[in-house]
Amino acid sequence: MDLTKELSPFFDETRKRFIELSDEIWRYAELRYEEWDSARHHRELLEDEGFRITPHLAGMPTAFHAEAGEGGPVIAILGEFDALPGMSQQAGALSCIAAPETGDNGHGCGHHLLGAGAHWAAVAVKRYLARHGLPGRVRFYGCPAEEGGSGKTFMAKAGAFDGVDAALSWHPDYETGVVTTVTLANLQVLFRFNGVAAHAALAPHLGRSALDAVELMNVGVNYLREHMPGDARVHYAITDSGGASPNVVQAQAAVLYLIRSPSNETTRRLYERVCDVARGAALMTGCRVDIEFDKACSNLVFNRVLADAMHGSLTRIGEPRFDQHEIDAARALQQTFLADERQALRTEAGMEEVPAIGPLLAYCPESTRQSFASSDVGDVSWIVPTAQCVTACYAYGTAFHSWQMVAQGKSALAHKGLELAAKVLAMTAIDLLSNPQRLNDAKAELIAKGGGPAYRSPIPDGVSPQLKPSPDSPHGHRTA
Ligand SMILES: [Zn+2]
Repeated sequence: MDLTKELSPFFDETRKRFIELSDEIWRYAELRYEEWDSARHHRELLEDEGFRITPHLAGMPTAFHAEAGEGGPVIAILGEFDALPGMSQQAGALSCIAAPETGDNGHGCGHHLLGAGAHWAAVAVKRYLARHGLPGRVRFYGCPAEEGGSGKTFMAKAGAFDGVDAALSWHPDYETGVVTTVTLANLQVLFRFNGVAAHAALAPHLGRSALDAVELMNVGVNYLREHMPGDARVHYAITDSGGASPNVVQAQAAVLYLIRSPSNETTRRLYERVCDVARGAALMTGCRVDIEFDKACSNLVFNRVLADAMHGSLTRIGEPRFDQHEIDAARALQQTFLADERQALRTEAGMEEVPAIGPLLAYCPESTRQSFASSDVGDVSWIVPTAQCVTACYAYGTAFHSWQMVAQGKSALAHKGLELAAKVLAMTAIDLLSNPQRLNDAKAELIAKGGGPAYRSPIPDGVSPQLKPSPDSPHGHRTA
């Protein structure tokens, strides 16, 4: 029987449950490493479904995997659930209005959908294997802190993906297609300068300004930028300016740097140069600098074999269709974009008028494009063959990490994209489980590209994730 048809009743029966799950995670809107309710909700549903839970991956309380099935290959489906700070926004609103129920946070990157879609796919695969009495295992990975925490990189370093044969994931977007872009490696590091406080006017000669050191470091890095590869990126945020009084020489100050490039090796070398600039700034100002490695993630290794399999699934399901209500809602949302934004989108789309909802992307696996974003899926892709798709969940052109993205998080279009992603992931996983040769080919490709056993974590030994203390009662405890 055609797999699309066979899975159809399952998706009809379970639709309500997974839309509710996604909406509930949207409401929790929990930040990196604080996804207490989100992780618990996923875990409980998976446990009820008969999955075997392995909690606390890499020592992280909100990281876990849930496995079902026996023997055979292991397919990982990666889920996320973390939100972003300062992004609280009412669902469905057409202007920026905070939502009291989500506190200060909001799902500005659609990870509530990402996790629910991956979970839905894992349940579909589990039931399919059971119904047909087939060997094979499916594992849902609850991956915390994608935003600024690189949860998967810590999981990868701790061996959480060992024994997996292939990994699949997806991301909500405003277009639909198999991902053929590759993401940058990155590395985040805090430079903490320590000087000497003094009265700025009475005894300036006794002071050593840590803020001066931060400023000189930033100037130094501005010069460095001129002499680094054109596809590298270096950004910073001053996280401690040393106080609010100009009359006190700042005894401490700190700056957080995010360094990116297309490869782990180039990123590491750039990092060494940025550290030299920091030491130079410390020397110039008579301060001390402490360098605290925060987190890192690897560039993405594209896997053609797996991408082809995923593209096959998407093609079999067919191009998504949108009803008038979804198109009208997307058009109304697009009215909130700035004129400049609309112009840029017309250029991007190469059209006079941008579509309300993005079309199916052309599949071009021969020419992978460089994305200037980063993702901790990169580390998984170094260890096991990995493929990802995107599905249209938002009006065409919606900016990531914007209030518009949060506002559309519970829309009919978001739910449609969620379901399509779950179907693509489930069908691809089933295809791979019943096609061991394809898995072998995917692994051979990864090894030929330098991955597999040769993977080295970009995180130095001894660096731990920036975990948050577990609350006595999960925050708000707004349980479903
Ligand atoms: Zn994201």
